[in-house]
Amino acid sequence: MIELKNITKSYSVGKERIDVLKSINLVIEDGEFTSIMGPSGSGKSTLMNIIGCLDKQTSGEYFLNGENISDYKDTDLARIRIQSIGFVFQQFQLLPRLNALRNVELPMIYSGLSKKERLERAEQALIKVGLGDRMEHLPNALSGGQKQRVAIARAIVNNPKLILADEPTGALDTRTSVSIMEEFSKLNEEGTTVVLVTHELEIAEYTNRKIMVRDGEIVADETGRLQP
Ligand code: ADP
Ligand code: MG
Repeated sequence: MIELKNITKSYSVGKERIDVLKSINLVIEDGEFTSIMGPSGSGKSTLMNIIGCLDKQTSGEYFLNGENISDYKDTDLARIRIQSIGFVFQQFQLLPRLNALRNVELPMIYSGLSKKERLERAEQALIKVGLGDRMEHLPNALSGGQKQRVAIARAIVNNPKLILADEPTGALDTRTSVSIMEEFSKLNEEGTTVVLVTHELEIAEYTNRKIMVRDGEIVADETGRLQP
């Protein structure tokens, strides 16, 4: 479903050019559960943002579901993003003035669904992640783990085939991290492709494939458990 061919990303800072990604070649099939690991600054978020159509490569080609989307305009990329990709971030990115239900409703605002349908679907998503009793809570009144569950509900409410999570457990304690990873495992077992960034080995062990990034390059790509 995801195919990156010779993807690079560079920035010009002053007179200097920084090559953040150097010729990334990567195929991720439907239904995979993959983690991307690597040191801070190695290009993990940049890679995720390109996969998620939040950012564009400097060169190379991106095929999503067989379609070459490399030269798509921002509006087309935005449509793909909203319709078919769910995002989860380290800092949850919930809107503080909206309660849990309204936060989860957000990705459906331009869907053409009626308000009643939107709220029903938001409610179902919150029930699915175990927050049926926290619908009216504002983000500030929720624990870190609960905030991340709201973010997961928001990510799944449009039934995306792909979920991208950039350090989803980075702000959570170990026990809460485990419960969040169980949530991703469940979604993957239901058929959703999940790609997540983490630098914790214990978190990566929940996934079936580990990709190691260093200085903008993939240096390892392993299926199964990592060797100690
Ligand atoms: P990671 O997620 O692995 O920590 P990032 O993908 O966020 O790494 O960043 C990789 C590198 O790209 C870093 O060195 C960072 O400073 C650089 N970088 C990211 N965004 C920009 C930008 N907008 N302009 C210049 N450099 C950037
Ligand atoms: Mg990052």
